[in-house]
Amino acid sequence: MISLCSFREEEDSLTAKKVGYSMESENIYGCEMQEDRMKKLIKNGTIVLEDKVIQGDLLIEDEVIAEIGQNLDAEGGQIIDATGLVVLPGGIDVHTHFNIDVGVRAVDDFSTGTIAAAFGGTTTIVDHMGFGPKGCNLHHQLGVYKGYTNGKCVTDYGIHGVFQDINEDILKETEVMMADGVSSFKMYLTYDYKLEDADTLKVLNKLKDIGGITTVHCENDAIIHYLRDKFVAEGKTEAKYHPQSRPPYCEAEAVDRMIALAKAAGKAPLYIVHVSAKESVNLIREARKAGDTVFGETCPQYLVLDESRYDDPVEGLKFILSPPLRAKEHQEAIWQGIKDGTLQVIATDHCSFDFHGDKQNGKDDFTKCPNGAPGVETRMPIVFSEGVSKGRLSLNEFAAVTSTNPAKIFGMYPKKGVLAPGSDADIVLMNPDMEVTITKNILHENVDYTPYEGIQVKGWPVMTMVRGQAVVENERLQVPLGFGRYINRKPVKYTELLK
Ligand code: MN
Ligand code: MN
Repeated sequence: MISLCSFREEEDSLTAKKVGYSMESENIYGCEMQEDRMKKLIKNGTIVLEDKVIQGDLLIEDEVIAEIGQNLDAEGGQIIDATGLVVLPGGIDVHTHFNIDVGVRAVDDFSTGTIAAAFGGTTTIVDHMGFGPKGCNLHHQLGVYKGYTNGKCVTDYGIHGVFQDINEDILKETEVMMADGVSSFKMYLTYDYKLEDADTLKVLNKLKDIGGITTVHCENDAIIHYLRDKFVAEGKTEAKYHPQSRPPYCEAEAVDRMIALAKAAGKAPLYIVHVSAKESVNLIREARKAGDTVFGETCPQYLVLDESRYDDPVEGLKFILSPPLRAKEHQEAIWQGIKDGTLQVIATDHCSFDFHGDKQNGKDDFTKCPNGAPGVETRMPIVFSEGVSKGRLSLNEFAAVTSTNPAKIFGMYPKKGVLAPGSDADIVLMNPDMEVTITKNILHENVDYTPYEGIQVKGWPVMTMVRGQAVVENERLQVPLGFGRYINRKPVKYTELLK
């Protein structure tokens, strides 16, 4: 029998002032709402359904969508005028690292992280846990993270499992994790607990059997260490050597190898996180053409930022993340991969360290800089602006890559990820005409910079609703910490997602 760690309460790291939270808003989330059948009608919006877009109304009853159509009756409930607004399934960010401890601790915890997510139009996050002590089982970190999340989240949330060592007990334990709502697991091919090929085969095979999915950080560990050591020995320690120490072929080799290993494991479900290189896109495209059950994720940083950001040795520290930013030519290849379905998901890899804090550990040596950058709040507007407003993506394609596909791949669909009767009323209202210049001061991320400083976007979320409750409205947080619920994710038939 595997027991969970006891939950650990931590002090709230959030001041009410920062998010404009008031006693008044506490009353909105009061007891009357719990007892009556609450109805809300979103009226006259451009509603993005899974296969089409309609002009119309969306009726919410309690926590779920009751009906979608034209000229619906509010039945005495609240009316929300969505004239001129796009009504989308709430964003799902399946790659965050809130409160992660990598020697230094990320500055966004599950309160500031999910608040920032909500302000940015995201209603669900799925977090990739950090490693636990050597030899710990899978539930150890789940217990630690239940402690991190307890009473903190304002969006709904799930947690990916993480592998450190592989043995029979660990493989067996995945079944219990699945029953505990963890349907996906991460493994690393670099960093402290990198797995050897033989162990990855065991994981791929086991997760295939239980309807789970193996997610992988793909980079060749030996190449990284070889190049880093070489650069450091030559005194090449500025930020610009970070991308040179992790070149595109270093990522692509690991992607290629994982695809082969998943094929050997009987076309086991495989999900490549944070694809940054055109070579990786091409490999995933070919594998999918061959019928392999391979899925790919990219992130906004690889779409709108490029390696010229490392030219300035001081500012460059803000962009030390892995895989690194690439040459501009990779961006169009990634857009093409999104467009043709090779990549199904845009997530963030949000992992925030203060520029004037721990990022400075790398000021004399890039290898000492904690890897990661924030992005949970800016994902939806950047992808909407670069995708929909610039004509690269239809509204349906936008909803697919920011919400529907991650919900399907990670065992949450159709409860999450779609505007349909019976689904949770997780909804974001986007103003498609609103022009905003992104700057740190307008964001709620608890970090002292944004890598997207100065980037102009057209399209901004103006209301975020989780299970029928406005979480952000009128630029204010409307719910108390702890409103968000843990999502019990389910096994998935992955071959059906290839259609
Ligand atoms: Mn990673
Ligand atoms: Mn990550």
